[in-house]
Amino acid sequence: MPGAAASGRDRGAAGDRDRRLAAFGGRPAVPRELRNPPWPVITDDDRAAVLGVLDGAALVSDTDGETAVSVLERRWAERTGAAHCVGTSNGTTALQLALAALGVGPGDEVIVPALSFIASGLAPLHQMAIPVFADIDPVTFNMDPAAVEALVTPRTAAILPVHLHGHPADMDALNAIARRHGLAVVEDAAQAHGAFYNGRPVGSLGDAAAFSLQVTKNLPTCGEGGLVTINDDKVAETARMTRQFGEVIEPGRDRDYISYLLGWNHKLSAVQAAFTLSQLERFDAYDAARRGNVTAFLARLAELPGLVVPSRVGDVTHAWHILRFRFDPVAAGLPDVRPEAFRVALHRLLRAEGVPVSRYQLLALPEQKVFTDRIGYGSGYPWAAGDPQADAEHPVATQVIADSLTLQKRHLNPDAGLALRHYADGFEKVWANLDMVAAIAKSAR
Ligand SMILES: *Cc1c(COP(=O)(O)O)cnc(C)c1O
Repeated sequence: MPGAAASGRDRGAAGDRDRRLAAFGGRPAVPRELRNPPWPVITDDDRAAVLGVLDGAALVSDTDGETAVSVLERRWAERTGAAHCVGTSNGTTALQLALAALGVGPGDEVIVPALSFIASGLAPLHQMAIPVFADIDPVTFNMDPAAVEALVTPRTAAILPVHLHGHPADMDALNAIARRHGLAVVEDAAQAHGAFYNGRPVGSLGDAAAFSLQVTKNLPTCGEGGLVTINDDKVAETARMTRQFGEVIEPGRDRDYISYLLGWNHKLSAVQAAFTLSQLERFDAYDAARRGNVTAFLARLAELPGLVVPSRVGDVTHAWHILRFRFDPVAAGLPDVRPEAFRVALHRLLRAEGVPVSRYQLLALPEQKVFTDRIGYGSGYPWAAGDPQADAEHPVATQVIADSLTLQKRHLNPDAGLALRHYADGFEKVWANLDMVAAIAKSAR
C-alpha cells in the first residue's frame, strides 16, 4: 500500500531527524520557547506592591516609621535567625557594609575563595583591605578550609566564605579557624537564599552575612538591592550608620545631619523592598518547586557516564541557584580527550540542541586584572598599605572553570520542569553521540 509505505518512510525520516545532532541538521531537543524561561516571575501582586509604594510617603530606608524596607528587614532577620537585618543598595554594598561594620580596614587581609563572582573580591578592596585567595573544593566549589588555614597571617582580619551556587560553605571548619586566630567571618550568601547548614539557615552562621536581591538571584527585586544580616547589636548599629552617611537615624527624632563615622549612601529603595516582600510570599513555594524539578533533572543526568552532576556534601540543603556540571572524559570512555576540549565540544553541541548551558566565570578570581595588576586606589593602594603575601596556587579553581558548564537561575524557575525535561533529552542525545563529541574535541585546538 503506497500510503502506508509513505507514512512509514516519513516516520523513519522524522526519527532520523530527532536522533541526528542539531549541529548536523537534526531537530533540536529543546523547542525555542523553552530555552529562556522568565526570571523573576512577576505577578499582579508584585505590580500592586510596587504601585502601593508610589501611593505612600515612604520611598527610602531613612523614612521615619514602618516602611517596606523596615518590614523586609524584620522578615529577613526572622527567616535567617539573625538578630538584625540592614537593607542595602545591592549585594556588593552589603558585603562592604558587613566588612566595614566589623572593622575591616586598610592593609587588613581578607581570605576569599578563588572561584566566585567578582564582588566577593572587590568588597574587601572597597574597604582598602587586601583580598587573599584560597583554592576551592572540587565537589562543593566552596573555599577549602585547609587552604584557608594555610593563608592566615598576623594581618588576616576576616574570612569571606561564599555559599557558591547555593551550596553552603564548610562553616564548622571555617568558624573553628576563625576562632583559633581571632578572625571575623562574613558569609557571602548572594547565591544562597533558602540554603541550610546543619539545619540552620545561611545568614546567621558567621558574624555577618550579605545577600543580593539583584534580579537574577533566588530572592529577586525589580532591579538592585541587598540585605546584611548581623547578630551583634553594636555591629548592626555601625552598619546602619555606615549605610547612611555615618549618621544616626532614630525614630521620632529629627535628623541632625551629623556624621559620626565614614559612611556611604548605600540605602535600599522602598520600591525595591516592596517588590521583594511580595516575592517573599511565594519564596517557599518556588523553592519547593525548584527542588522537585532539579532533583528529577539531576537524577536523569547522573546516569550519563562522565557527566558529574552537582551534589551535596554534609548536612546541607542546597539552594540550587546555579547548576554546575563537570565533564570527565575518562569516565565517559574518552581517555585521549582533554577535559577542556571535551567541555568545548559539549558546549557547542548542547547549545545547538537548545540547551542553554553557559560558562559562569572564565577566570579564577586571583587571575582578574584588577588583582594581578593591583589596580586599586592608585599608588599601589590598598596593597601598599599592607605586606601582601605571594598569591597562593589555585589549581582546583582553574580546573573546574576549564571542565564545567552551568545552567543558571532563570532555567530553574518554578515552571521550568518541562524545560528541564527537554534539557535532559538534549544531554542524552549528545551522550548517544559521544564518538562525534570526541571527534569535535580532538579537532578543536
Ligand atoms: C551577585 C553576587 C554578588 C553581588 O551582588 P550584587 O547585588 O550584584 O552587587 C556578590 N557575591 C556573589 C557570590 C554573587 O553571586
